[in-house]
Amino acid sequence: MSLFAAIAFLLILARSIAELWLSQLNARHVRAHTNEVPLAFRGMIDNATYRRSVDYTLAKSRFGEVVTLFDAVLLISLLFSGVLPWAFGKFTAAFGTSVLAMAGFLFAIGVALSMVSLPFAWYAQFKLEDRFGFNTTALKTWVLDRLKGLLLAVLLGFPLLALVLKVIEWTGPNWWIWAATVVIAFQLLLLLIAPVVIMPLFNRFTPLPDGSLRERLFALARRTDFPTRSIEVMDGSKRSRHSNAFFTGFGRFRKIVLFDTLVAQLAEPELESVLAHEIGHYKKRHVMKLLGVSIAGVFIGFAAVAWLARQQWFYRAFGFEYHAGFAVANVVPAMLLFGLLAGTISFWFSPLLHIWSRRFEYEADAFARATMGNEQPLIQALRKLTEKNLSNLTPHPLYSGFYYSHPTLLERERALQPGA
Ligand SMILES: [Zn+2]
Repeated sequence: MSLFAAIAFLLILARSIAELWLSQLNARHVRAHTNEVPLAFRGMIDNATYRRSVDYTLAKSRFGEVVTLFDAVLLISLLFSGVLPWAFGKFTAAFGTSVLAMAGFLFAIGVALSMVSLPFAWYAQFKLEDRFGFNTTALKTWVLDRLKGLLLAVLLGFPLLALVLKVIEWTGPNWWIWAATVVIAFQLLLLLIAPVVIMPLFNRFTPLPDGSLRERLFALARRTDFPTRSIEVMDGSKRSRHSNAFFTGFGRFRKIVLFDTLVAQLAEPELESVLAHEIGHYKKRHVMKLLGVSIAGVFIGFAAVAWLARQQWFYRAFGFEYHAGFAVANVVPAMLLFGLLAGTISFWFSPLLHIWSRRFEYEADAFARATMGNEQPLIQALRKLTEKNLSNLTPHPLYSGFYYSHPTLLERERALQPGA
């Protein structure tokens, strides 16, 4: 095993151990609070519901540990068994090294990997979520979702992949700048058309019916100077009893979307406060800032692939032959290996992103409080959502600090209190 292969092996191991350790730490912390509702939540949640939230948290964490172990074993066997260079050799012998063939190779591996994870996705939906009463997905819907996803990958993902590889042929040494630009342009286009073209493939969107709720929410949009043409209700209950709200699209395609489950769970002022929170994200330019980070991420990723594609030791470490130059077939193994390994590095940076994202949540909460005139509707909404979704009320601080994109209920309530 070369030095770099050993480093890659250690990186995979380190991430898995960190994930398992955090999961165990969190589970112990949750179990230590099992017997009675923590002081801060008495009166908000009854004992039976609290116990169910504990069971749900523990069940999810056990499942997550199994997935972590499986992923580590899969990744190690893929990288160190020699199966990838073997498959690459067979593929190029059969189909050549044209751009289309190479895109086909990467695409086939992507499809194969997502097939392997299907049993886990099935178990999560039909066993785990079902046991706690969240699953409402019919098997037919679930299968159709997967088929639609595959169809979208064939119609959108594959052409993009082929175009990125074609860019290597066209532009030479600085290909990664052009490739990153193409991918970012594609992402922006997708953001624009997704609400119109893609999301309706999976869900039905209906305008919020006339009535007091609609009047209240449009009044809020006007009051906060949030240009929206429509507020729509999505049939989230088709798949799950979990609830959510978001806005999507740009310019004239922008719309506010409420899950039907959310509309059913919250009273009107609470829904208004949730929407005010979402508008806060827009007003504070959080969407643009996150987009900026994701654009930077694409550039860094492609720069890394371009650099790795020039390193002989990187290819040798995983059994690939190295050829100098910018032929597509020389870059593809680096792309594949980067795709498999990038997560072992980015994992350690994810807490930084989460710290940032939690700051956005506080800002959006503060915006909602200012817009609503007081903090009560939002606090009530957050409490109800925490209870209905059986969210973990007592995560270990290290665990939530590492993984949570949103502050915990208690943290948000504290920040919302007058004078905070
Ligand atoms: Zn938010």
